[in-house]
Amino acid sequence: MTAEMSSFKRFLHWGPITALTIIKCITLTTLYMNSMWWPPNFSLGGFLNQAVFLMLSSLATFNFVMATLTGPGLLPLKWKPKDSNVTDQLQYCKVCEGYKAPRSHHCRKCNRCIKKMDHHCPWINHCVGWANHAYFTYFLLFSIIGSLHGAVILSCSFYRGIHRYWYLSRGLVHLATVQFTMYSIIMCIFAMGLAIGVVIALGMLLYFQMKSIWKNQTGIEMWIIEKAMYRRMHYPDLDEFVYPYDLGYIENIKQVFKNENVAKGIGIEWPVIEGCDQYTLTREQIAQKCEKRARTRTYKCIRKATGSYLPLFSQGFRVCLSPPCTDEPRLRLEVDDVIKVTRFRKHWLFGERVASEAEQKEAKLKKKALRGWFPRRCAIELIQPNQPVTSDEEDNNEIPTGDIPQKRVNKVKTSDLEEIVQSNGGNHRKPHQNGNHHHQHKKIK
Ligand SMILES: [Zn+2]
Ligand SMILES: [Zn+2]
Repeated sequence: MTAEMSSFKRFLHWGPITALTIIKCITLTTLYMNSMWWPPNFSLGGFLNQAVFLMLSSLATFNFVMATLTGPGLLPLKWKPKDSNVTDQLQYCKVCEGYKAPRSHHCRKCNRCIKKMDHHCPWINHCVGWANHAYFTYFLLFSIIGSLHGAVILSCSFYRGIHRYWYLSRGLVHLATVQFTMYSIIMCIFAMGLAIGVVIALGMLLYFQMKSIWKNQTGIEMWIIEKAMYRRMHYPDLDEFVYPYDLGYIENIKQVFKNENVAKGIGIEWPVIEGCDQYTLTREQIAQKCEKRARTRTYKCIRKATGSYLPLFSQGFRVCLSPPCTDEPRLRLEVDDVIKVTRFRKHWLFGERVASEAEQKEAKLKKKALRGWFPRRCAIELIQPNQPVTSDEEDNNEIPTGDIPQKRVNKVKTSDLEEIVQSNGGNHRKPHQNGNHHHQHKKIK
């Protein structure tokens, strides 16, 4: 999938098709039931009730379509800052062959750098970012209110419908207006379930979106801040990290919902607080990636790892008694597999298995993990003169820093490495104790 596709094609995807089907299913069933429960053509109240419901449903659909069509705003390919002196403060995207503007990130699904990327949303089959953040949030809001309204109409008409004979037997003919057929009762229950599901699921999503807008921090930025704080806990000598975009909640909200504020910096320049500049965050990002690179060690598998969470029979008690307390995946390894390790525990290591492109594709299809924890005793460290660069966790591109070899992980073969195999017994370098902290970036969606 590419970021530039025709508007029509963008909707031909399970995400938009499912989302629009759910909206239409709730809307049409609610209108049908409402026409019996509170007919709009008999009273002003009935008319207004239906008009409000229709308006909410249309607004939800409109904002959904606009969020999809507008898109998040793509950073132009081969983008460069106007001032060429600042390129060393920016990350470079190998795929787009350009620098990443502040707050931009590369989306693997869209295969492009996205301005102020929040997350990739399969329901709109596009990223949520700079240009469509407001549409997306309005879509959530109107869907929730509309579904709540629909759920009330559906449950009231359901109640009337199932009590029809009771009303008739008491002579309350004016209350016995809702008449069910086999299909309509099934549709009514189904749409009620959908509407309640929408309220709960999108309600949670809207809560997280509002929290992020309130602080002017995207999902990805929250993660960067967490890492920045963690770095300072470990290295108290570092300068204090100040998040540059938090302008106070009123201004933060305007950054998303006020058109002229959104348009101002065209998603590239951002207003920052005093003491910060345009590159405060990107410098921190670069420092984080360099640090991650510096602590990456290459290991080679010498004993099969099963990928089990409790490998009692294959690895014994000691390994099982000190598992990493996280639900992150466990790696299955075969002898001679090469692993780029970034986190270290006494009995466990966390890393990414070096895989060929075909293997990576297969792993993606079968949802097999290439990154995860494995028992330390299954691998030994390889020492090489030129430490190859690891891939990034969230984007697949690298920082053009002069003194670090620009080598892609998936191109590194075991045979390339000048191996000085060390025993795993006690020879490995003292690892950076980074294990207690897990940046599990929870993608909202
Ligand atoms: Zn890119
Ligand atoms: Zn995307």
